[in-house]
Amino acid sequence: MPKPFYITTPIYYVNARPHLGHAYTTIVADVASRYHAMRKADTFFLTGTDEHGDKIVRAARQKQITPRQYVDQISALFKALWPELNINYDQFIRTTDASHIAVVKKILQKIYDQGDIYFSEYEGKYCFGCERFYTDRELVDGKCPDHETAPEIIKESNYFFKMSHYQGWLIDHIKTHPDFIRPERYKNEVLAFLREPLEDLCISRPKTRLEWGITLPFDQNYVTYVWFDALINYISALGWPDGEKFKKFWPVSQHIVAKDILKPHGIYWPIMLKAAGIPVYQHLNVHGYWNIDQSKMSKSLGNVVEPLELKNVYGLDAFRYFLMRDMTFGLDSNFSEEALVQRINSDLANDLGNLFSRVVAMVHKYFKGVVPRVDLQVEKEFELGLETRALNTISEFEMAMEEFAFHKALIAIWELISHMNKYIDVTAPWELAKKKTSGKQLEAVIYNLLEGLRIISGLIYPVMPDTAVKMRVHLGLNPDEPFYHLDRLRTWNTILAGTELPKSIVLFPRVDTNKDKSEADQLSAPESQLPEFKPEITFETLEKIDLRVGTVVRAEVVPKARKLLKLLVDLGQQRTIVAGISGSYTPEELEGKQIIVVANLKPAKLMGILSNGMVLAAVDQQQCSLATVDRNVTPGTPLK
Ligand SMILES: [Zn+2]
Repeated sequence: MPKPFYITTPIYYVNARPHLGHAYTTIVADVASRYHAMRKADTFFLTGTDEHGDKIVRAARQKQITPRQYVDQISALFKALWPELNINYDQFIRTTDASHIAVVKKILQKIYDQGDIYFSEYEGKYCFGCERFYTDRELVDGKCPDHETAPEIIKESNYFFKMSHYQGWLIDHIKTHPDFIRPERYKNEVLAFLREPLEDLCISRPKTRLEWGITLPFDQNYVTYVWFDALINYISALGWPDGEKFKKFWPVSQHIVAKDILKPHGIYWPIMLKAAGIPVYQHLNVHGYWNIDQSKMSKSLGNVVEPLELKNVYGLDAFRYFLMRDMTFGLDSNFSEEALVQRINSDLANDLGNLFSRVVAMVHKYFKGVVPRVDLQVEKEFELGLETRALNTISEFEMAMEEFAFHKALIAIWELISHMNKYIDVTAPWELAKKKTSGKQLEAVIYNLLEGLRIISGLIYPVMPDTAVKMRVHLGLNPDEPFYHLDRLRTWNTILAGTELPKSIVLFPRVDTNKDKSEADQLSAPESQLPEFKPEITFETLEKIDLRVGTVVRAEVVPKARKLLKLLVDLGQQRTIVAGISGSYTPEELEGKQIIVVANLKPAKLMGILSNGMVLAAVDQQQCSLATVDRNVTPGTPLK
């Protein structure tokens, strides 16, 4: 039996509406949870809302409703967002749930009874924004580091939790469990903090100041400090102390948090658990921030748009892919619409989308839409296999997913995609189809490509579940068998010969960036990357160049010249033109396409072929893009 998996997001504080940061954390949890489903593990995914404290009371007062009404409203917003992001959680906990409150009281009483909570008068500097006291050391120029306001001096009697008792134990635990807090930078941050003596934590608020909280079981005049209450959700949801879920999932617990709440999760929480005699969690996974680049956000839509709204513009799977691909888990990253569109066009539309539609289209073109059978002898003879390569990808994917390196997992998948695109160029199925003798080879090539796509459909499942299912349907896989299970993915020859495939579809439409680009963007394009403008010419000189629209009749790869394609172009008369565009276009993509040709360029020999004309294309570092006309015209039509 695979080891079970338990993942939590923080329970979100409901003093504001959900934003990109919440969405990212929760999508990460969803991706991790779906990955463990691929391992056939029992998974439990917990999220929820944190609903006590005086920030809530103030927000409710502003809206002239009760705290209860307020938390119901905001909590519902969070709950409604998750299905929109295809978040497949198992439980949504609220700290106002009666079962949670009971557990918090039980743990407080336990720690109190054993003497780790004491009563003391305290005079200190209190920030109302943070709902906490600050030590002088923590203040910046005498001000709260978060709110940049001077704290107020408050004198009150409160209950304190003896965190200092457990400081040595915690340091030891972190040092003997190197991946307890990860990535490593955050482990080091916690250890650096623990180099100074740890102060005891004030865990109560007098009801004279705050009533909206959980009453201390040993003193009716106080409520619990909101962090002490909130952190306990991770075990109250599992039915601590003797719920079945607690026994099964707590030993494999993993938390995901953003770096701003490292301290409560990396210090308070393990110490609370230790004091309560509960084993600590297995891993704390800490991620960085998304910096939103407003200058690159959606001018196309007129207004600056909330990042979350972009999922409605570009599709949810593309949005999830971008978040997982562009952030190295643990580090900060930049969010912009421009970067999102770039990912869609290059990774999704170009690499994955093209591969998928090319392969399915070839099944229809060469085999009437029926999956061919592989002759193993032919396979052996010509070494057409993709199997080893694909199996390696699965292993790389697993390793990266285990350590929360989602971007690495995706890079591994995209390397396979690019390998398969090259495989098509090298095996040239359109050439195999021309010769009667190579029919068996063609069958093997197409079948291998389908199997490769099957593996890709499974590997993208955690990040892009909807696209994965679309691919599954178009590959004719049995809907009753979970196509994404890792052991199935590893079983080569799973697609049944003879299966009829539906017609190909476009998985990700390209986003037309020119249409959306504002003038300002074009002006700010980095000039240094572009070549100098050429010297001025006269109109007479220009008129000497004979530019014509041509239709590509046939295209084929020039043997031994990987970048060259030999084109037969209709310009009213047929011409042979050799073009160095093979890296960006496949022969079959070109057939029927209208292109722009310099018709009166002196013919030249390339790789022994006389090229009679030149094809116009824009070329940058990544690829070349053919110049064309936006409406079909008669071949040979001149440009002026
Ligand atoms: Zn503050």
